[in-house]
Amino acid sequence: MASKIAKKLATKGKVGMTVAKVLIVIEIIIKKIVKYIKKALWILIILAVFLAVFVGVGFYGKAGFIKGISDESDKAVVANSEAAGGTLTGQENEENTVANDETVVVADGMDSIQDEEVIIATADVDVATQTETEVTKEELEFNKSDWNLILVNKQHPIPDDYSFELGIISGSMECDVRILEPLNEMFEMAKEDGVQLVVCSPYREMSRQEYLFDRKMKGYLNNGYSYIDAYKESSAVVTVPGASEHQIGLSLDIISDNYYKLDESFELTDAGKWLKANAYKYGFILRYPKGKEEITGIIYEPWHYRYVGVDAAKIIHEKNITLEEFIEGL
Ligand code: ZN
Repeated sequence: MASKIAKKLATKGKVGMTVAKVLIVIEIIIKKIVKYIKKALWILIILAVFLAVFVGVGFYGKAGFIKGISDESDKAVVANSEAAGGTLTGQENEENTVANDETVVVADGMDSIQDEEVIIATADVDVATQTETEVTKEELEFNKSDWNLILVNKQHPIPDDYSFELGIISGSMECDVRILEPLNEMFEMAKEDGVQLVVCSPYREMSRQEYLFDRKMKGYLNNGYSYIDAYKESSAVVTVPGASEHQIGLSLDIISDNYYKLDESFELTDAGKWLKANAYKYGFILRYPKGKEEITGIIYEPWHYRYVGVDAAKIIHEKNITLEEFIEGL
């Protein structure tokens, strides 16, 4: 079209010739643009088809992928519930966290095409993690058979097959090796608060407990008590051999460097006050509180602390109960 007009114009002088040339150039440019648009259209159509196929496949794949992940999460929750059967320690929680991390890592390792799915899947795992946290809280259960919750008193003597590993506190003083770390931490924190705690009676062998009990018995018998009365009185002050927490290495008599007497006035010392207010933070409880003698069967002993673990100690401290009451409530 443009070329016909150009031919006519070309015959009409110099100006006509120039206009004709411009027209031809414009025509060529337009033809090229149309050609490119046609090509581009094909590319757009091809892209649209690809997109349709991709979205379709992607949607189908996503459904399957999420199902897979939630299966994994279920497994993690099941594993968690099993772990919660025992005492939930920080380590176990840590393991669960690691398990979640692994799930996420697996998801991240999928093909990059599934990036979108991975993000969704990760969010899915996050929800699972939250659920697990709730499960963990709900199942913060204590088990009577946990080593740190063993109940030892006159009615519950130490089992014959009870065994544990001893650790050295200092010199010849020993305790259950598992409480060394919290014990040292407690002593260090007391020191930071200006209180110097001193362990005066740690783990005791059976023979030592027998000696202490016999000595008490003899004292009462020599003072005219009948055997039964002497036994009653002695057992309220010195634990019957085989039923002392000192024999399981979980209890310690703690005094201060400026008050050595094991009597009620210890509660008025800085050490006595500090222990009463802070020991539970390290897993230790005042084992024989004032006013609970009927339950514990032992007189008030503001110096006798027993390790039960931080979780149990917190509850026992806040509820102002004894280990007997705590165990009873499990
Ligand atoms: Zn004691």
